[in-house]
Amino acid sequence: MVNTALTGRCFCGEVQFEVTGQPAAMGYCHCESCRTWSAGPVNAFSLWSPDSLRITRGAQSIASFAKNPQSERKWCTRCGGHLFTDHPHWKLVDIYAALLPQLKFEPGVHVHYQETVLPIRDGVVKYKDMPKEMGGSGETLPE
Ligand SMILES: [Zn+2]
Ligand SMILES: [Zn+2]
Repeated sequence: MVNTALTGRCFCGEVQFEVTGQPAAMGYCHCESCRTWSAGPVNAFSLWSPDSLRITRGAQSIASFAKNPQSERKWCTRCGGHLFTDHPHWKLVDIYAALLPQLKFEPGVHVHYQETVLPIRDGVVKYKDMPKEMGGSGETLPE
């Protein structure tokens, strides 16, 4: 498979980036942190190796906030548009799926489903919190 770069940008276009390779995982996070950060009912995520991501414009306009050390949330200081969440302990970066219009988004998992405010009946596995290999209980919930 040819690794063509996918391109993305913030809401105003000040920050632009490209990503190459394949995501490690894609899915939906229903946790309260994602909801209050995004002001949306669910976060559609795509997780990548940090090496896959290259900022091509506006790197100086990226700000960061970490409510906890697991998630460093990034946004554009010009428009306030959200960009990424770094997960340093997993060595992964969440590039919000909504910012990668060329990405073939194939959600494989729902995480933190015990916190959902928007149940999604799509037949995709629903973890109560997180899969075991990501440090969670590994327990699943019905839709
Ligand atoms: Zn912007
Ligand atoms: Zn979350």
